[in-house]
Amino acid sequence: MSSATPAPDQASPGAGTAEARPVALVTGASRGIGRAIAETLAAAGFTVVVNYASSAAAADDVVATIEAAGGRAWSHRADVGDEQQVEDLFKAVLAREGRLDVLVNNAGITRDGLLLRMKTSDWQSVIDLNLTGVFLCTRAASKVMLKARRGRIVNITSVVALMGNAGQANYSAAKAGLLGLTRSNAAEFASRGVTVNAVAPGFIASDMTEKLDKEAILQAIPLGRMGSPTEVAGAVRFLAADPAAAYITGQVLQVDGGMVMR
Ligand code: NAP
Repeated sequence: MSSATPAPDQASPGAGTAEARPVALVTGASRGIGRAIAETLAAAGFTVVVNYASSAAAADDVVATIEAAGGRAWSHRADVGDEQQVEDLFKAVLAREGRLDVLVNNAGITRDGLLLRMKTSDWQSVIDLNLTGVFLCTRAASKVMLKARRGRIVNITSVVALMGNAGQANYSAAKAGLLGLTRSNAAEFASRGVTVNAVAPGFIASDMTEKLDKEAILQAIPLGRMGSPTEVAGAVRFLAADPAAAYITGQVLQVDGGMVMR
């Protein structure tokens, strides 16, 4: 197994001891895309740390679903935009598991509005979580992964990072910032066998997109439908866990039904 290959897919849940399992931390895993990523990585053999901000019951349900399927998971509440809470989260992961093989920076929020009327607090809260939160978690994870000389990091950005979007200056700026962060971290960590990639979903059915005008959206998607969280999770699983992805770093994989073709 190459040093950049933390967890082959063939590691099946239930095989071997809990300690032998690779560990994946998924931020914002109580709902939507994060939940699907957590369940998918658990099925691929990871112990999954289910991070959430406030939905304790939903996070418990993710853990129960994973355990019922024979996997291993536990949840930890932390606002990943808060430096101290991120430190506590990583301390908990290391105290309990002693290792970290995969970090998926998935937690994200929107505070949409036209720029002219955008409150500074709405700008700041989106930057704080969607961009600074990824910096904080990646910095904490890198301490473990660089020392272990292995690990994979996947950042969930968005197609709006590539195309912009009226009413989402804060969100698209944060998600575009993630592209620079992904590539810079990939360049910094490559010599230690740690890969860093991004997944850019288009319109995916979740709480985040529930209130959007579906008719207008569908016209912009060549495949003619919204994506599902499990379709994003499949791309994350490939980058985070498939031995075949060991030589991929600094890349952006779009999961968008053909919305943005470059
Ligand atoms: P979602 O359904 O709204 O779920 C958001 C998740 O993030 C929840 O688990 C939530 O936890 C967590 N979260 C929110 N604030 C947090 C904080 N401060 N610290 C830790 N966790 C926090 O969103 P989603 O649609 O699944 O989106 C997931 C990711 O994909 C986001 O980064 C989003 O920007 C990106 N994305 C989504 C789409 C889409 O179409 N849905 C498209 C492109 C990109 P609680 O449940 O505790 O609040």
